[in-house]
Amino acid sequence: MIHDDHGFSTRAIHVGQEFDPTTGAVIPPVHFSTTYAQDGIGNLRGGYEYGRGGNPTRDSLQKQLASLEGASHAFSFASGLAAEDALLRAVLRPGDHVLMGNDVYGGTHRLVRRIFGDWNIGLTTLELDDLEAVRSALASTGARVLWLETPSNPLMKVTDVAALAEIAHASGALVVVDNTFATPYLQQPLALGADVVIHSTTKYLGGHSDVIGGAVVLSDDALAEKVGFHQFAAGAVSGPLDAWLTTRGIKTLAVRMDRHSASAHALASALEGHPAVARVYYPGLPSHPGHDLAARQMRDFGGMLSLELAGGAAAARAFAEGLRVFSLAESLGGVESLVNYPSEMTHASVRGTALEVSDAIIRLSVGLEDVEDLLADVRQSLARLG
Ligand SMILES: *Cc1c(COP(=O)(O)O)cnc(C)c1O
Repeated sequence: MIHDDHGFSTRAIHVGQEFDPTTGAVIPPVHFSTTYAQDGIGNLRGGYEYGRGGNPTRDSLQKQLASLEGASHAFSFASGLAAEDALLRAVLRPGDHVLMGNDVYGGTHRLVRRIFGDWNIGLTTLELDDLEAVRSALASTGARVLWLETPSNPLMKVTDVAALAEIAHASGALVVVDNTFATPYLQQPLALGADVVIHSTTKYLGGHSDVIGGAVVLSDDALAEKVGFHQFAAGAVSGPLDAWLTTRGIKTLAVRMDRHSASAHALASALEGHPAVARVYYPGLPSHPGHDLAARQMRDFGGMLSLELAGGAAAARAFAEGLRVFSLAESLGGVESLVNYPSEMTHASVRGTALEVSDAIIRLSVGLEDVEDLLADVRQSLARLG
């Protein structure tokens, strides 16, 4: 029997993954059935009735996710944004206000500003490393939710979850941490004092760039009941194959994150001081302003880093297009290395807002290829900038 005291990988591999009692299949089958036979009206076997309300494969994933975040409840959705939407609708009412870091995922900002804005939800974005500014913004807006992401995207800013949770709780706000970049292996926001963890499981948790998904993870029973009701009644659930692929990815999360982190660290160190690179943004570098905090708050520094090219936008574009092992693509967290040009790709939706990203910035999602090949690829593309 697997219990809470088992280590991270033991739980990742076993929680919710009990073998099939009828056949002994070590990997539980994927349950595609949309509906469940009843032994007499309302007499359900195992509580399953209809696939939107409950599905054994989705339940397996939810148990696995809750265990890894040290939470009592997890809810799996069709995408990260569907998870965010369900949580916010469960929590917010017209007239409420959201306070958000000024570097959160662009789609999160767009969701609150353009979808929730129409339902009279206010939004303020601000720099979260100024704790006094956060305290006064919470007081002046009366924010119901404080939303943060650490490390952030694409500048890898590190935010003090424990300090912000204390400040937010003193003013009655709910603290939501988007833990997509760090994953529960590297960072445990609930243990640091956050109320809710959000994931785009599309990224490191799925880990293979082959399934879109999201999750809300939390321990408060009353809020969990509301989120569960939104999952069921609004219906943006993850499908069985998506849930199964995500579960399969999560089993190798720890070994993947160790390798992602080691290779990203090697690249960041090699690039710092390169004449074509004005600045490297990686929390593992002692030069990074969030380094000490990240070292306290995280197990390791993760697989994402960003570069500011000395030659500005033209150099940034040429560098991104000159890479051969890294593919130019949106998204992150897969086994393959990806390069992204935030100002025109992932962060195009926040152009013209306070969240706008410089056009000299390139973001790398460092994959699991041989690090020598990744280093050589980055060096050859920088060398061609001339
Ligand atoms: C991708 C991403 C999201 C949105 O998730 P989807 O699965 O694309 O809907 C939210 N937050 C972060 C940090 C992300 O990287």
